Amino acid sequence: MSMIMSPVDAIAELFASEGAADYLGEPVTVAAHLLQAGASAEADGAPPALVAAALLHDVGHLRGADARTAEIELSGRELMAGHDNNHGDRGAQWLSSQRFPVSVTEPVRLHVAAKRYLCATEPSYFGQLSEASVYTLAVQGGPMTDAEAREFEREPHAADAIAVRRWDDQAKDPSADVPDFDHYRWLLVSLLITA
Ligand code: FE
Repeated sequence: MSMIMSPVDAIAELFASEGAADYLGEPVTVAAHLLQAGASAEADGAPPALVAAALLHDVGHLRGADARTAEIELSGRELMAGHDNNHGDRGAQWLSSQRFPVSVTEPVRLHVAAKRYLCATEPSYFGQLSEASVYTLAVQGGPMTDAEAREFEREPHAADAIAVRRWDDQAKDPSADVPDFDHYRWLLVSLLITA
C-alpha cells in the first residue's frame, strides 16, 4: 500500500478526526457543519468547485486540531480562546498543496473576509450571525473598513466567497439530515488538478 494518502482520503480522515467532533460554540460539530454547508450548496445548484469549497471551508480548523500539525497550526479551539488561527488562509494553503484548483481554494481562503465584508456592507447581516460567529468576528478583525471592503470586491473570487459564507452561516442546524462525506468523494476527485 502506498504511504502517500490521496487528497480525498486525507480529507476523509480529517472529517473522522477528533477535531471534527468539536462544537466550537455552535450547536453542531465541525463535521456536521461542513456537511450541511456542502449539502446547501448542492441543493442551491452550485457548481462542483463551490460545493467543494462549502464542504471544505473550515478544513483549516480540522488541520489545526490534528496532533501531527498542532505545532504549526492553531485549532478552532484556540480561535474560540481568542487567538486567530487564520483558518481560511491555512485551509486554502493546504487544499492547494493537495492539488485543488483556485476555484475551490479562493472561496475557502476568503470566507472569513466575506463575513467581515458583509458586516460592513449589509445592514441586516450582523443580526443573523450566531453568538460564536459574533465572538470570532472580533478576533478576526471586526467589520471591514470602507477601504478594505473595496479591496475585497476586487478579489476575483469575492462573489464565490460570499456564497460560501451564506451557506456557512446557515449550516448550524442540529436537526438537519444531510449526506455523509462519502457522497462527495467523486465530486472532490473530479476537481483535483492532474499535472
Ligand atoms: Fe464555517
